[in-house]
Amino acid sequence: MRPISIVQHEDFRLHETPGYHPESPERLAAIDEALQKSDLANEVVQLKSRMVKEDELCLVHDPAYIEQLAKRDQQAKERNRTIGLDGDTFLSPASFDIAKMAVGGGLNAIESVKNDHFLSSFVSVRPPGHHARIRHHMGFCIFNNIAVAARYAVDHLGYKRVMILDWDVHHGNGTQEIFYSEPAVCFLSLHQFPFYPRNSGWFTEDGDGEGKGFNINIPLPEGTGDRGYLAAWDAIVTPIVHEYEPDLILLSAGYDAHIDDPLGQQRITTVGFAMLAQRLLDLSNATGAKVVCFLEGGYDLTALAESVVATMRVLSADSEERSAEVHVSYIMPNNATGKQPVTGDRFANEVDDRIEQVRKHFSNYWKCLRP
Ligand SMILES: [Zn+2]
Repeated sequence: MRPISIVQHEDFRLHETPGYHPESPERLAAIDEALQKSDLANEVVQLKSRMVKEDELCLVHDPAYIEQLAKRDQQAKERNRTIGLDGDTFLSPASFDIAKMAVGGGLNAIESVKNDHFLSSFVSVRPPGHHARIRHHMGFCIFNNIAVAARYAVDHLGYKRVMILDWDVHHGNGTQEIFYSEPAVCFLSLHQFPFYPRNSGWFTEDGDGEGKGFNINIPLPEGTGDRGYLAAWDAIVTPIVHEYEPDLILLSAGYDAHIDDPLGQQRITTVGFAMLAQRLLDLSNATGAKVVCFLEGGYDLTALAESVVATMRVLSADSEERSAEVHVSYIMPNNATGKQPVTGDRFANEVDDRIEQVRKHFSNYWKCLRP
């Protein structure tokens, strides 16, 4: 198997949210349990996390925002209870420190692929990060874990071109905001549209200044399914990654586009995620860029855990035989979800029209997308 590392620790469950909240500590327990039952259990190498330093957070966040959070942290600790930062983002007494550990875990993962023999790494932490903006918490996110890691990779580890791919069902608006004018970090998001955040993630939001054309949104209609996601990947993601030639690929790995997810309606199956992960591995092999995945959303515990493990198993396959073995294990009936997978026929025209619109728009910036 190809060496793969993981950042995970029981402490990440100490970030508490109200009982009704989908972003629960149980998510990480489910992932760990599925991993332990899988053939990766004895293969994957555990990485330690660390507390991110303030100046590292300031690579992407405003110091005044961090100061404001520190005050709220004080309040949560004094009252010894969970407080609401906004309608859906919460801070429990441990959350501020745990959020800093989550970011630090991401930095350790980046270093593990830079310095060690790991070809990929999975950062299985919470709170998630891709909605966190320069000056605002948002949508369950406190700090933007993947954005700090990307900035750190460029500023401190000598990476020249970092590709951030985001397949969470929601638009990664925080990551977009942070790198909107930055060509050294190319951001590409596939997401349900219209959806949360409202009016965010249309393809005409395509970057600014030197970053023009390096912010790529692929807004997909509700119900896109496996076929549509794979079609969008093949038509847009693969050619752009080949042309950009990244030296590092980061993935905002959300699994709320899964067919069983209670929040999203995109109907990707676990098989679909395995196939997307295979394309990610193919891009890694073709460009030589290593891959670090950052857990974002995903709220059905079984679907989340299965899909995370599927992603890791695909990424760790070291031969075509092994890849085939992994894929077959998800296609066999005893692993089926019991629901009818969507082939996309009903939506095919709408999805393909959207992909064509996006291709046409970005052909202004990317030669590979021209006919
Ligand atoms: Zn999400």
